[in-house]
Amino acid sequence: MRVRFWGTRGSIATPGPGTNHFGGNTSCVEVTTAAGDLLILDCGTGVHALAKSLMAPGKGAIHANILLGHTHWDHIQGFPFFTPAFVKGNSAAIHGPEGSGGSLHEVLAGQMEYRYFPVELNQLPATITYHSLTEGIHAIGGARVATQFLNHPAATIGYRIEADGVALVYLVDHEPFSDELWRAGAEPGRIDAILHEGDRRHALFMADADLVIHDAQYTPEEYPSRKNWGHSTYDYVVRMAAAAGVRQLALTHHDPGHDDAFVADIERKARALALELGAPLDVFCAFEGCEIAPSPRAGMKPFVAAAARQASVAQRQFHVLVVDDQPDTLALIVRALEAEHYQVRQAASGPEALRMIDASMPDLVVLDYRMTGMDGMAVMGELRARPETRDLPVLMLTAMNDERSTRAGFDAGVMDYVTKPFSIPQLTARVRACLARTQSA
Ligand SMILES: [Zn+2]
Ligand SMILES: [Zn+2]
Repeated sequence: MRVRFWGTRGSIATPGPGTNHFGGNTSCVEVTTAAGDLLILDCGTGVHALAKSLMAPGKGAIHANILLGHTHWDHIQGFPFFTPAFVKGNSAAIHGPEGSGGSLHEVLAGQMEYRYFPVELNQLPATITYHSLTEGIHAIGGARVATQFLNHPAATIGYRIEADGVALVYLVDHEPFSDELWRAGAEPGRIDAILHEGDRRHALFMADADLVIHDAQYTPEEYPSRKNWGHSTYDYVVRMAAAAGVRQLALTHHDPGHDDAFVADIERKARALALELGAPLDVFCAFEGCEIAPSPRAGMKPFVAAAARQASVAQRQFHVLVVDDQPDTLALIVRALEAEHYQVRQAASGPEALRMIDASMPDLVVLDYRMTGMDGMAVMGELRARPETRDLPVLMLTAMNDERSTRAGFDAGVMDYVTKPFSIPQLTARVRACLARTQSA
């Protein structure tokens, strides 16, 4: 397997003398398997130069497998300039998460409407197919590809590509699930010591990978003022990769405000941290033109998913019960979930919620932790004590992001734990991930 970076910048293309080394183009990585299959991770502006190299004279028909983590601009903006799509006989199979506010085709066609671009998507002569993914194991371009939801204010998936005895994991546009990484009292640095179930799942997804490509847009100093924007710090990423036994770690999605000197400094600090942790981890900041050929291993362990394939959320009517004693918050959440086409009911107290659950079982409960009278933990206790609601999925909302409260939530059996303040896109992405996991296809 050969991996080449064509775009390493996050958020917006940033050309200029200050970014000459690490590059100014937005996310795009080319993966070529030993059999010659082509997988393209994200279609930021970097895909323009990749397209040019693919179209070099003497090369045959191009069959690209495009894997989009999500459809924010910096990950799709290069697609209209993916010139192989302008040639009959070529093909592009485009994969991406469902739930991007329309089908993949609709979203990509939107940015190519006549008012934005001279050629419409449907006019492209190449054969283009669209594949919506949730979590699970897929066969794409001769590779075994596992997908898992990331934490970002949009439906976003990470990819684990297993081919040629190599595991490559692409986790771009992801934010830590919790401020606290480790459980108190547990020895830090091990996956089983990770506090938040989401972070633990994230670490397991990259476990033993030969190469992890990860969003590391911020420094720990910058992060507090950019919380909920959906990106990681190098510190979080190095600690996670070290715990997960990753061999090589490429930090990417560099902040548009960071010039080469700043990114080089992040690289130095990330390496020093890996050294300090005693991890045999080769960390570097990805740059345009960087090429890696991870060496295959005989003992590469294929990733095992909880379920082979999660259900499509789009194809079923899900019932969600929202429980919060703050009328404004309740109304805001209900409106946001209704806009996602779920059937939503609401309760303003714990006892009311229990009565409504008795009357009709929802697929998911979005439950506030701190409520007057019966609080969220008391409701959880009731639900878990009854056989018919023992396994009812619950997403807990809370202003308490301390280690003890987070642990109490997971110990009580919540599926996800979302701390306030959150943004609505972030919450709806987390609700979608929970619903996809509530049942296997
Ligand atoms: Zn991005
Ligand atoms: Zn994004």
